[in-house]
Amino acid sequence: MTREILVIGGAGYVGSHAVEALRAEGYVPVVLDNLSGGYREAVGKAELIVGDMGDAALLDMLFSRRQFAGVLHFASLIDVAASQKDPARYYSNNVAATLVLLESMRKHGVAHLVFSSSAAVYGEPEHSPVTEDAARKPVSVYGQTKCMVEDMLAAHHKAYGLHYTSLRYFNAAGAHPNGSIGECHPEETHLIPLVLQAASGRRRSVSVFGNQYPTEDGTCIRDYVHVCDLAAAHVKALESLWNGSASRCYNLGTGKGYSVLEVIRTAERVTGKTIKTDMEKRRDGDPAVLVADGSLAREKLGWVPAYPELETMLQHAWAWESRMAESIRSREVV
Ligand code: UDP
Repeated sequence: MTREILVIGGAGYVGSHAVEALRAEGYVPVVLDNLSGGYREAVGKAELIVGDMGDAALLDMLFSRRQFAGVLHFASLIDVAASQKDPARYYSNNVAATLVLLESMRKHGVAHLVFSSSAAVYGEPEHSPVTEDAARKPVSVYGQTKCMVEDMLAAHHKAYGLHYTSLRYFNAAGAHPNGSIGECHPEETHLIPLVLQAASGRRRSVSVFGNQYPTEDGTCIRDYVHVCDLAAAHVKALESLWNGSASRCYNLGTGKGYSVLEVIRTAERVTGKTIKTDMEKRRDGDPAVLVADGSLAREKLGWVPAYPELETMLQHAWAWESRMAESIRSREVV
């Protein structure tokens, strides 16, 4: 069987770590990325094709010339607030372009797909930890796009025999322990990189969005999961599809939640810096608590997070942020 795997969005944060994970397991990742949120440098030695998943002619050419054993699909826009302001862009990129991909895969007989979904499909869950059978009630356009793709995948499975796994990430965090890749979004909105940028001096302070939630310290609780563990889950998911596992959705989280203030305190410990905070009002659509019941992925995929501790995620992310801050400083000096 061919060892080539098409990794769409492989130049982004989670995708680039999956490229590393595939290479480490002896696969040959081929990255297709439009570089809207990713970086050429992030794919390392893997082959990079710069292009769009919604470009049917490009996909047809790719699938007719190459033999892929499967596809990993990471190519989403991920900014919740932006999805509310410009929904058409999110439906077009996250949903319509995925349909183009599915059409092309079907046409060329490529039958195995692992999709990056999100805990955003649950919206404000009624119970915590959340299991996969909890109701999907997304509260943002971003979350809706993930539900729509999950529905398309289920329908393609039923009608055309597509084998798929949808991985619902909780909060991706950390960086590769070898220091080569990490989180780097064009416009950062996520808590951990913002906290670490405040520690490195790239930002004056970090905002805390709400401190009156029904949690112990009043700030939101999230389940942070190491990006390398997410990457490893993709490889396991693909291998288990090849071995005949059922097509379905899995939560990916550690099952342990940390509040925004706990993240900031742990970051202060890890970095040895004082992090200045600004108390702000709540962000629209933020649930108070979002923690995964990840037991299904453990049971069915044999997925066991290698780095379940928040402290380890922050150490790896801090090594990466220190490198980023240093490279920006040295450019400014020149
Ligand atoms: N958050 C915050 N300040 C920030 C960014 C995020 O207080 O500058 C909070 C946010 O309200 C949420 C948690 O940190 O409760 C994690 O947010 P993030 O955007 O990292 O991920 P999300 O949970 O929205 O996917």
